[in-house]
Amino acid sequence: MDLQHWLGRATGAVQDWADTFGPFRTHASLEVDDERFASVFEEFTGRLRDNYPFFHPRYAGQMLKPPHPAAVVGYLTAMLINPNNHALDGGPATAAMEREVVARLAGMFGYDTHLGHLTTSGTIANLEALFVARELHPGRGIAHSAEAHYTHGRMCHVLGVTGHAVRTDARGRMDLEDLERVLRTGEVGTVVVTTGTTGLGAVDPVDEVLPLARRHGVRVHVDAAYGGFFTLLAGADGPEGLPAGPWRAIARCDSIVVDPHKHGLQPYGCGAVLFRDPEVGRFYLHDSPYTYFTSDELHLGEISLECSRAGASAAALWLTFQLLPPTPEGLGRVLAAGRRAALRWADLITASDLLQLHQPPELDIVGYFPTVTPASLTRVDAASARVLAEGMTGPEPVFLSTLKAGHEAFAARHPGITADADGARILRSVLMKPESEHHVDRLHTRVEQLVRAL
Ligand SMILES: *Cc1c(COP(=O)(O)O)cnc(C)c1O
Repeated sequence: MDLQHWLGRATGAVQDWADTFGPFRTHASLEVDDERFASVFEEFTGRLRDNYPFFHPRYAGQMLKPPHPAAVVGYLTAMLINPNNHALDGGPATAAMEREVVARLAGMFGYDTHLGHLTTSGTIANLEALFVARELHPGRGIAHSAEAHYTHGRMCHVLGVTGHAVRTDARGRMDLEDLERVLRTGEVGTVVVTTGTTGLGAVDPVDEVLPLARRHGVRVHVDAAYGGFFTLLAGADGPEGLPAGPWRAIARCDSIVVDPHKHGLQPYGCGAVLFRDPEVGRFYLHDSPYTYFTSDELHLGEISLECSRAGASAAALWLTFQLLPPTPEGLGRVLAAGRRAALRWADLITASDLLQLHQPPELDIVGYFPTVTPASLTRVDAASARVLAEGMTGPEPVFLSTLKAGHEAFAARHPGITADADGARILRSVLMKPESEHHVDRLHTRVEQLVRAL
């Protein structure tokens, strides 16, 4: 896809549409001449160089990558019109696209019925799911694993409900015995399971949590903000295939959050929340004196907490899904490549004397740290921090990230390491670009060099 070509076509297509409304006089107050623009633009693009190369496979740090060119063209084309998906009055075309992409997401998880919408982020999507959880079980709390995204604890505070942090096992997954203990108190109304923790990509055993929760009359919300699209690899052949159990069980859970701006090739500003029971729409009931006048059909703003939202986000996702649909043969191939890259790197690390694998990757996130002697948390922490910092310098830079792991996490995985601190930073690489598959051996070699030079 030639981005320059299609961006030109985008402005042309919108201009053709605009021309059908007839000419009008533009206003002098908005005029900017090209010469002045050129100098400001130069400063602007100069400032943007202060960035990390998220697009390049040598960037193997956080959850960041540029959107697919189809998403860029979809977003920018719709943005020239600037529809607001709050209401059908704000942009009927992109509201219809939003309904279609939300239905595709619901179908991807196996929901037979759904009510849902896009959001600005996974944070807002989770807030909505927890808000509905509170309305359905007033006075009861919310349980999530100790390694769930920090937003859950924070949003419990915002919503005025008690959050219960459940212990995790030696792979960072929710511990069922501890969950059972928490559920027996009768104080919990909803359990949040995470399918792909933000730190290490651990997948909670949804298929085992679900029957346990149901026995206690408790709802289940799935935070699949990061990992949701990995459901496309559930039960797949080949090394990248994932155990089907937890992923198939998502279809029977009460609500789901997934972030197309993480693994759906979208620019930021695209999360989604889905409810299995469309009846929960009643909790959103409100009236608006400003909007909702063009039709009796339900407007998206009537089933969401946010008001204004970019119609361009729905447009970008719609255009992307026409080309790379959320199917095993579509987007699934993109995720499979990152997953194979993570497995390959884990093998290289396991075979290396210079590095240690923190835990086997369940998705496409690899946690590892330099081998240090004598082995202590203080030394692991210092060595990880130095590899991170020194990796970014020199002619062959690599961009990694660090993750703080507690001393209990080390005790469960690496009992030989002396716990002389409350925890240590480890190195963490999110291999979410399919190109990582071609680059992982070079990444490994470079990280080994950095460790050798310590
Ligand atoms: C990223 C993430 C969030 C927060 O989503 P944002 O889109 O960053 O607001 C919540 N939960 C999980 C598991 C995540 O990975």
